[in-house]
Amino acid sequence: RPTVYLVPTPIGNLTELTPRALDILNQVDLVAAEDTRNTRKLLTHYGIHKSLLACHEHNQKVAIPQVLEAIESGKSIAVVSDAGYPLVSDPGQHLVETLIQKEIPVVSISGPNAALDALVASGLPCYHYMFYGFLDNKHNKRVQELETLKAFPYTILFYEAPHRIQTTLTDMLTVLGDRKMVLARELTKVHEEYLRGTISEILDVCEELKGEMVIVMDGYQEEDSFDLDKAVDRVIDLSQT
Ligand code: SAM
Repeated sequence: RPTVYLVPTPIGNLTELTPRALDILNQVDLVAAEDTRNTRKLLTHYGIHKSLLACHEHNQKVAIPQVLEAIESGKSIAVVSDAGYPLVSDPGQHLVETLIQKEIPVVSISGPNAALDALVASGLPCYHYMFYGFLDNKHNKRVQELETLKAFPYTILFYEAPHRIQTTLTDMLTVLGDRKMVLARELTKVHEEYLRGTISEILDVCEELKGEMVIVMDGYQEEDSFDLDKAVDRVIDLSQT
């Protein structure tokens, strides 16, 4: 049965395309790509030669019917973005909604994702977290979004572009307060780096920073909250004096 596969692609290091992703890219009849030139380069690197179809936010009225037509004629399709998972801060949402509505099988293939890579190596709590992605690029809207996240008690993941990192961290400092954070930069690449500190400490050094980056932000911590472990330690201390 013709199937649509959502295939994550490397976020930097080209060896991070899983064997299963490679198999799928080799097997499908058509690859629907965010940017056909970028995907062509990736596929050529792996010696894969496939028909490509441009499929992004600005051409979905044309591209989605083309995908449906291909499925109807019995073709299987891989959907890819420029890096990481399609749909995650990338095109594909409307396509997947349409496919599900039409009861066409959609299969997710595992692979690289910048937010998860950043989260697990950040040192901030990972058990519960929120992926937020990009904040709005208009100041007022961004501040409003941060206001809604202010009391969220778990780690929050943001994507940001280097030319906006300073303004975004400045707004975060104002709205969220000077919390712990980690800036994870150039993941899986030669200049991969984790900067750990408070928002104001990272702000002091971020002007110079280039490349792709994920902000891993500590959740809201109630300062006066009752900490059972600390209370027990205190009782033990007192009982020993
Ligand atoms: N779909 C991708 C995913 O699953 O991670 C995200 C695509 S989004 C358009 C691009 C953003 O992801 C960048 O602006 C940056 O915040 C983050 N990103 C992508 N690659 C990265 C890398 N190698 N290191 C750090 N952040 C990265």
